[in-house]
Amino acid sequence: MIVTQTISDCRLERRKLGKLALVPTMGALHEGHVSLMATAKKHAEHVAVSIFVNPTQFGPREDFSKYPRPIEADLAKCQAAGVDLVFNPSAEEMYPARSKNLGFRTQDKSGGVPPESPPPEIMVDMPTLASVLEGRFRPTHFRGVCQVVAKLFNIIQPDVACFGQKDFQQLRIITAMVEALNWPIEIVPCPTLRDPDGLAKSSRNQFLSLEERQRALAISRGLLNAEKEFFQGVKQTNRLVTLVQNTMLEGTMQGKVPLLIDYVAAVDALTLKSVDQITTPTVIAVAARVGATRLIDNVLLDPTKKAHG
Ligand code: AMP
Repeated sequence: MIVTQTISDCRLERRKLGKLALVPTMGALHEGHVSLMATAKKHAEHVAVSIFVNPTQFGPREDFSKYPRPIEADLAKCQAAGVDLVFNPSAEEMYPARSKNLGFRTQDKSGGVPPESPPPEIMVDMPTLASVLEGRFRPTHFRGVCQVVAKLFNIIQPDVACFGQKDFQQLRIITAMVEALNWPIEIVPCPTLRDPDGLAKSSRNQFLSLEERQRALAISRGLLNAEKEFFQGVKQTNRLVTLVQNTMLEGTMQGKVPLLIDYVAAVDALTLKSVDQITTPTVIAVAARVGATRLIDNVLLDPTKKAHG
């Protein structure tokens, strides 16, 4: 496995490889990421992983400086998964102008990019898809995601790129971006990996105390309840959304600290527009805060498919 830190080294090493599948990550790798690497291996002879905590996708009050960066453990996981090439650049390498002009501060007191920062020097945006759901709570997030993924695609030039359905809005936006910009890259959606208790694996789960983790389980429980109801014939989204909300708030009635729900929404899987009655693939998406940790999860309800399991 070759590990590169500069764009020029990465390009040099990439040229030695044939058909390549890329798994872009922010590190703190878990089995969810490893499952993406396994899928990548099925789609191409060679696999590349990028590990980069991208500052431009964090808001001013978000957890950029707190985000875990266990690089040695991450590299060991990539090695074990049979990865050929790792790209692990610094913020200065990826954003030299920003670093020089603004004295880029990774230890900013607010825990992220300084609020006075101008927008990223180049903007790739999918405003319609990016302004809903996560976009309402993280208005500049997907601009940062599109910017960094566009740069990674240009640097690594993969034939295939794997993205998790856990971040389904991100997956939809990247798929639309690749279509809109005619990039010859196949975007492969990968299913969400969960812990045995149902919690979707996330690099941020390590911030949860045991008690918070128990409370966080109400998110996947709510989504699972909605999925069951859907397969029993309930197609009205207001009923499914209410069921998810009620499941998430059950703990409150038992006197526990509530989860703070940012949204529970039912949207069309392609347009991300609100859906009343499920006739086409629809996603029920949730974002909630458990203590200081913000978690997202979702379930895809496809009327053309039968219940599994
Ligand atoms: P991140 O490092 O959180 O930016 O995630 C990198 C990639 O891993 C993204 O495509 C995520 O959607 C995907 N991913 C994160 N968590 C999971 C999970 N639990 N199951 C499958 N893929 C995931």
